Amino acid sequence: MTSPVWHPFTQHGLQEPVPTVIRAEGALLHCADGSTLIDAISSWWVTTHGHCHPRITAAIAAQAQKLDQVIFAGYTHEPAEEVARGLIAIAPSGLSHVFFSDSGSTSVEVALKMALGYWHNRKQPRHRILVLEHSYHGDTIGAMSVGERGVFNRPYAPLLFDVGTIPFPVEGQEQATLDALESACRGEQKPAAFIVEPLILGAGGMLIYGAGILRAMREICASHDVLFIADEVMTGWGRTGTLFACEQAGISPDIMCLSKGLTGGSVPLAVTLASTPIFEAHYSTDRAELFYHSSSYTANPIACAAAAANLAIWREEDVLGRIASLSAAMAARRAGLGKDQAFEKSRQIGAIAAIDMKTANAGYLSELAPQLRTFFLERGILLRPLGNTIYVMPPYAITEDAVDIIFSAIAEAAQAFAL
Ligand code: PLP
Repeated sequence: MTSPVWHPFTQHGLQEPVPTVIRAEGALLHCADGSTLIDAISSWWVTTHGHCHPRITAAIAAQAQKLDQVIFAGYTHEPAEEVARGLIAIAPSGLSHVFFSDSGSTSVEVALKMALGYWHNRKQPRHRILVLEHSYHGDTIGAMSVGERGVFNRPYAPLLFDVGTIPFPVEGQEQATLDALESACRGEQKPAAFIVEPLILGAGGMLIYGAGILRAMREICASHDVLFIADEVMTGWGRTGTLFACEQAGISPDIMCLSKGLTGGSVPLAVTLASTPIFEAHYSTDRAELFYHSSSYTANPIACAAAAANLAIWREEDVLGRIASLSAAMAARRAGLGKDQAFEKSRQIGAIAAIDMKTANAGYLSELAPQLRTFFLERGILLRPLGNTIYVMPPYAITEDAVDIIFSAIAEAAQAFAL
């Protein structure tokens, strides 16, 4: 019988295999047919420490027996309070308030609404948002609007709002990015905010840029009174080698989005952190000025308990040390690949490595992507190339042997798919 399930980002017409996963631990997924897969992309970039981390699963189980869910408008609970306090203690300075939601996309929607609400309540309405070329911020309408226009959102284009696009800071041409941002900030239509993925653009193709540019972009926004939104949904929780990518640039955004690894990747939760001025612009005795955003499950206690356990792991264990070792192991294996003529643009930041396979048909719709997916699946590896870009972003608990298997399979792919 065919399944009634409609999967995300899946062309069912291609009839690709859909493994049924029944159990997971560390970096391994166990399937119903008895096979085991190495999760080389952290199940869409969420699993940080490893699947089914015992401290996180125990926290979820304990919380589920105490308080499963409660309305969060006008009510609170200790897991949410604990997460909020824990986040403010480790977030870039100046971020003082925590707004909960359920996914990376909703954390971005919240960030955009906070920015517009800030200007509205200050009686200086601004609506224009600046974005970086090739960005991806999620799949809801606002998040798509601030992302790259293309195959991901073409059918919905008429619903998307207009934005100002700043060119990606290609190495050697960074000044053009800074000049374009400066000019957009000075523009007649004053921008409300600039939203960026710090240090690396994920779904846009794992495009890396320097911390100096991130810092310069933040400074330009500050000097023109344009709010700076850091979308750390992918980069947060150690992926780039530091807890948050913003740390490498020594910057504090006005608004910061987190999700994915917030619960260690166990259950869905997101937060949007805001600076005091953003909160205060909504603080009043006038109910018309409150922040009008909610969802039924805002700050679900079970998800918050998972996030609190994740924060405790970060406080008490040497997670950054683990990431540094993983990063070094990945860099060593990647160095071998870089010499292969089939590849170009080998790159890495922290525990994210990427390489492009040379092809006549680059881009997300490259026919290489589904072929490579199947090739890796047949070798017991979950990899999901972005077009002709193969990237590796494993859970930090992955073993060196598993890292070897992944990079050997990528080397083998070079032979199988070389032009
Ligand atoms: N922002 C960034 C930078 C992302 O990489 C993603 C997802 O990959 C999102 C936002 C959207 O997150 P979600 O898929 O949880 O809605």
